[in-house]
Amino acid sequence: MDCIFCKIAQGSIPSNKIFENDKVVAFYDIQPAAPVHALIIPRKHIESMNDVQEEDWEDIAEIHRVAQKLAKDLGVAETGYRLVNNCGKDSGQVVFHFHFHLLGGSKLGPANSQE
Ligand code: AMP
Ligand code: ZN
Repeated sequence: MDCIFCKIAQGSIPSNKIFENDKVVAFYDIQPAAPVHALIIPRKHIESMNDVQEEDWEDIAEIHRVAQKLAKDLGVAETGYRLVNNCGKDSGQVVFHFHFHLLGGSKLGPANSQE
């Protein structure tokens, strides 16, 4: 499958990995929008929130468990951070392999902005 995040999960293209286990992989965003900008993805190819199936919810829960751990490890748990999932055209989703952004390390802009 021609999916950049599948390739990152498999290790067939390079990335700056922070964490991985049997369910999820976390790595730094190539174009950071904040001092700390990690992406957390399921190993399984799921295109977007709209495509999450009943059997996938454990993986999605694991993404949140890992986000909580990474926030601590990356030093933003106390100062604050944001977990973001973009789904579909209006959100600006560009990579169609489900992922959460973990953003922090400085004061973030408005969460619910409409440009
Ligand atoms: P989204 O708009 O939620 O689909 O965001 C996709 C994110 O993936 C963007 O923030 C990109 O900078 C990031 N991205 C794209 N390609 C790579 C890559 N090869 N390694 C790390 N991050 C990437
Ligand atoms: Zn994929």
